[in-house]
Amino acid sequence: MEILSTEEKFKNIEHNLKVIRDRISAAAASVGRSPEEITLMAVTKTVDPLFINHAIECGVDLIGENKVQEFLSKKPFLHMENCRAHLIGHLQTNKVRQIVGEVSVIQSVDSLKLATEISKRSLAAGLVTECLVEVNIGGEENKTGLEFSQTEELLEKMATLEGIKVRGLMTVPPICEKEEELSQYFSKMHALFIDMKSKKLDNIDMTVLSMGMSGDYEAAVRHGSNLVRIGSAIFGPRIY
Ligand SMILES: *Cc1c(COP(=O)(O)O)cnc(C)c1O
Repeated sequence: MEILSTEEKFKNIEHNLKVIRDRISAAAASVGRSPEEITLMAVTKTVDPLFINHAIECGVDLIGENKVQEFLSKKPFLHMENCRAHLIGHLQTNKVRQIVGEVSVIQSVDSLKLATEISKRSLAAGLVTECLVEVNIGGEENKTGLEFSQTEELLEKMATLEGIKVRGLMTVPPICEKEEELSQYFSKMHALFIDMKSKKLDNIDMTVLSMGMSGDYEAAVRHGSNLVRIGSAIFGPRIY
């Protein structure tokens, strides 16, 4: 692999962000949506704080991290004055206590057990934690996320919990070879989002639909996403 200098990497981040913002705008316009409806999240897992801070300097105001430990260890080095962070990776109940109060939204709530723990820990800390419910839209085995058919039931139960506020839904669709197949998952997810919004459940504010990553964010925007989570298209391939 090519070795890039810090300066070159900074330039790439700037360039990539510009390209992505232009593409989001074009995808939105192609379906009659306004680009302002769509929030761009920079996914920063494995990325060094030096480069995360550069992205923030280039106007990124939302980052996403997958792991509690990784985020907490990087956080002291991040310039977060004008930037928020969401947790987007699978969360174990025993890590909830550490993350509550550290991120503005937990996007990966996929069980009542987890929601209950977030509620309990938020109440103890005197906070309200905003949450998205993660749906396993492809019904894939061995994948996190709630089963599609159980969404309403979980939302109803979460609506009764204090210390949390549901803001919407999140998904990671299956890897698809064909664009039409992927579009079907995004459409199904958007329909679920609209359906859940129409129920007007108490204490549920169905405003965020988080879907779309580096390889598929334009399709996601065309199918109603209003928050795209983009990592490698901004920072380059991840090195684990
Ligand atoms: C890593 C990750 C992303 C970003 O993936 P890229 O393909 O690098 O854009 C988005 N969402 C989740 C949940 C992730 O884990």
